[in-house]
Amino acid sequence: MASAKISVVIVGAGIVGAALALHFARRGAAVHVLDEGAQAGSGVTARAFGWVNIVNVVPGAANYALVQEALAEYARLQADLPGAFAAARSGSLFWLETVAGTEAFAAAHRGAGADVELVDAATVAAWEPALRQPPACAIFSPRDLALDPARLARDLIDAAGASVTFGRKVESLVLSGSRVRGVRLADGAIEADLVILAGGTSVDRLCENLGFRTGVEASPSIILRYSCAAPVVTRILRGPGLEIRQSPDNRLHVAKSYIDDRQENAPERMGQRILEVMQERLILPEGVALAEAAAGYRPVFSDGLPRLGFLPDVEGAYVAVGHPGVILAPLLGRLAAEHVLEGRRPPLVPAAGLK
Ligand SMILES: Cc1cc2nc3c(=O)[nH]c(=O)nc-3n(C[C@H](O)[C@H](O)[C@H](O)COP(=O)(O)OP(=O)(O)OC[C@H]3O[C@@H](n4cnc5c(N)ncnc54)[C@H](O)[C@@H]3O)c2cc1C
Repeated sequence: MASAKISVVIVGAGIVGAALALHFARRGAAVHVLDEGAQAGSGVTARAFGWVNIVNVVPGAANYALVQEALAEYARLQADLPGAFAAARSGSLFWLETVAGTEAFAAAHRGAGADVELVDAATVAAWEPALRQPPACAIFSPRDLALDPARLARDLIDAAGASVTFGRKVESLVLSGSRVRGVRLADGAIEADLVILAGGTSVDRLCENLGFRTGVEASPSIILRYSCAAPVVTRILRGPGLEIRQSPDNRLHVAKSYIDDRQENAPERMGQRILEVMQERLILPEGVALAEAAAGYRPVFSDGLPRLGFLPDVEGAYVAVGHPGVILAPLLGRLAAEHVLEGRRPPLVPAAGLK
């Protein structure tokens, strides 16, 4: 597949599909993006916290090197599309329960080649004066970014100049012999040389009639957003029990682990509890109120790695899915485009079945 005029249909306009659109279009492909949502980034991408980071990834984890590469890819994207990052903030502070734990985690990151440094309580207090009790030390990760992933998805698709169809579900793949020829919607079909499945947790539904499953799982996590009238924090802060950032509109964003489906752990109830935690830990202006509380389902694999590659036993179908999708998306977009259009293999262990 070395033709520069290849026609590509991307199923899914989340952050991953959007990044694919940009990279395929930049290499001369005619790209059409389809999504059943009303606009780009309306799947789990709309629920993401929006932290592009290395510091929250455990050194030694299977995806560590990939995330490091993904941060370098973000730097390239920022230089390429500065307007898409106008509202992004950079830098995060991360600390654990104990000083020894924080120091050891920083040392492990540095040993793995990450650009992080330890800062003391006085520095944290000067940088983040709203913290009532700054930690004795924290890991400062200067290249981490905080951004609005749904907005970035829209900007990437605009920059790609891709044609788009929203509000329409892809029902199945159009198969002719052992070749995928396009996608079928309720009222017709769209032909393409290549179909890329970037539907997040839904990706296996479209592989089913080809007898293949990626094994993607839907892992819940909770996003809480609070209206707030004034600036509170500058960087992304992650300490025990609280992961928080603030966007330029002053909204405060908090990500929480999903506990279970009992009423007391429903997102709204959690949102009220976390507001109390925020009031204990931070000097907040009057009137901070819960504006949004929802669970989102992340597309994860048990080995912690994304899936990128051609589907087996057919021609013309490719899959791109994985977590942490916001962090990885621009890199996955580049790797997939280089694989398909330039014949370069992605530096990922090929997952079972993918070519
Ligand atoms: C609370 C929370 C916090 C998170 N924080 C972070 C973070 O800080 N950093 C990070 O990297 N990740 C984070 N994530 C994970 C991140 O949101 C996901 O990994 C990422 O958004 C996945 O993007 P995607 O494009 O693969 O999926 P999606 O955004 O779900 O996009 C897939 C799209 O495909 C469409 N689609 C599916 N099937 C079809 C079909 N048959 N026909 C038409 N359209 C279809 C869907 O409508 C959807 O829009 C977080 C997730 C949650 C829930």
